[in-house]
Amino acid sequence: MRKALFPEGREHFARYTCWRAISPGVPRGMDPARLSESWGASKRFGLAAIPGDRVYWFACCGAERTDDPALARLDLEGIKAFFADFHEPIPEVLARTPPASLIWTDILDLNPMSSFTRGKVVLLGDAAHAVTPDLGQGAGLAIEDAAVLAALLARLPSERALREYDARRVVRARRIAIESRLYARVAQWRNPLVVPLRNFIVSSIPERFMDRQLDAVLDIAFDPIRTAA
Ligand SMILES: Cc1cc2nc3c(=O)[nH]c(=O)nc-3n(C[C@H](O)[C@H](O)[C@H](O)COP(=O)(O)OP(=O)(O)OC[C@H]3O[C@@H](n4cnc5c(N)ncnc54)[C@H](O)[C@@H]3O)c2cc1C
Repeated sequence: MRKALFPEGREHFARYTCWRAISPGVPRGMDPARLSESWGASKRFGLAAIPGDRVYWFACCGAERTDDPALARLDLEGIKAFFADFHEPIPEVLARTPPASLIWTDILDLNPMSSFTRGKVVLLGDAAHAVTPDLGQGAGLAIEDAAVLAALLARLPSERALREYDARRVVRARRIAIESRLYARVAQWRNPLVVPLRNFIVSSIPERFMDRQLDAVLDIAFDPIRTAA
């Protein structure tokens, strides 16, 4: 549907690939209240404790193409070897992971579009604005779309509701898409001379500054819907 009606929304390979899984048990010393990302040269590893005494993890590495056969062959043992130089508790979490829970996904996003509607057709979620997962906002954006669209359709004639939907969603989705891409580019840097400098700078940024950046993404005010024309 999108390809036929929204040709500007082309898929774009973010030049990295990602494995995800859930492992049982939260390792000793891991703060369950924090999500962490550890960065190497063109590879990174993220950890988050989730309910039920489990850990969700993701592991990313740079890739030159989608469906790379060498990456497709990489199983849990291969990932353990690939991240063997990463600090604890990463090896421990990998050791606890059931091999069958591994999910592999090449990361693609969509070039930002100027409208999510054509006539009576309206796009929501990833269909409208797939973003790289770097800011963890893809599912949140999809839920926001649904809430905004439902509220608009309940209060306005459908043509006006769709116009308003575009006005409220396109700019926000574009911003997250661009910021996610930028984050991905920096996080996946490969140059061994630049990577230590990047890691030093990023780890020196005060936490409250990082929190402010994140707040700017997360704190959105939904404008009231005016029912008068
Ligand atoms: C590696 C990775 C990590 C991520 N991490 C995060 C994160 O931390 N936080 C976050 O918020 N988001 C994250 N995301 C993004 C998030 O998964 C998506 O943004 C979200 O799932 C989009 O929801 P959606 O409903 O729009 O699309 P989808 O979840 O893709 O749902 C679409 C559904 O429609 C079905 N479908 C497709 N075509 C048809 C058809 N013709 N008929 C019937 N059904 C059909 C599909 O099978 C699918 O079930 C991540 C994504 C990836 C790949």
